[in-house]
Amino acid sequence: MKLALAEHGLRLTKSLGQNFLHDQNQIRRIVSAAETGPADKILEIGPGLGPLTELLAAKAGEVLAIEKDKRLFDYLSQKFSTLSHLKLLHADALEYLKHHRRWRDWKLAANLPYSVASPLLVELAWAEEPPERLTATLQLEVARRIDAATGSEYYGVLGLLLRLRYESRGWFKIPAACFFPVPEVDSACIVLARRAEPLLATALHGTFTRIVKRGFSQRRKMMFKLLKEDWPEDALRRGFDVAALAPRTRAEEVSLEQFARLTEALCL
Ligand code: SAM
Repeated sequence: MKLALAEHGLRLTKSLGQNFLHDQNQIRRIVSAAETGPADKILEIGPGLGPLTELLAAKAGEVLAIEKDKRLFDYLSQKFSTLSHLKLLHADALEYLKHHRRWRDWKLAANLPYSVASPLLVELAWAEEPPERLTATLQLEVARRIDAATGSEYYGVLGLLLRLRYESRGWFKIPAACFFPVPEVDSACIVLARRAEPLLATALHGTFTRIVKRGFSQRRKMMFKLLKEDWPEDALRRGFDVAALAPRTRAEEVSLEQFARLTEALCL
């Protein structure tokens, strides 16, 4: 990797989260977790120097890899010039996803740029047609937040927003030493599978977000008191009854299903 960088005069940019994964075992583990086969279309965000891209392209029917760094994009275009089923795109993935919202028969497999990993996942999960599976390497702490159970210290907005549409299939740790340059924190690869049945009608997703964000705006406070800033008290009382929530409950004690039922009741 160092050689490739030196040969092509490529200098790393910290703000683009350029910590490259060089451990082949971990790369194989990610591809296997992504359940990549010849019938699959794979979206990769941030291909970097392309080690994951190479393995994905060897297994999948089609790969679309979006890279923001023009120097890396040029490097990859040269490196993979013979692969017709791999399409490389020079773009900011976050911007691109705002305008491309149909990913129904796609799977994400990526080692994400950490500074934008959470918004990228939310953008995909809340797309008009979200991908079938999300396999993403990100900071270990973020994986814990996505996978957190109700009541845990990691439970909160990010996990709830993603798991409204996805079920967590768990995560595995990737030690910092597997990357170059070595980051300050460990990473993890999280796997999310799209729910067969939606937990909530799409039209209610905006209200769900408002409730969850308001509820967690002050973790230690009773959710009823916080929600009173946005909803009338009698509607909240009815909603809490429907969702079987005690008035003194804090947001961290409320399950995803209870948030969904409360949303429906407040939208009646
Ligand atoms: N996939 C490579 C690997 O595993 O070694 C590189 C992963 S590195 C953590 C993140 C990559 O995302 C970098 O190549 C960086 O240039 C790229 N990147 C950063 N922000 C991006 C964005 N908004 N859109 C697309 N690519 C981005």
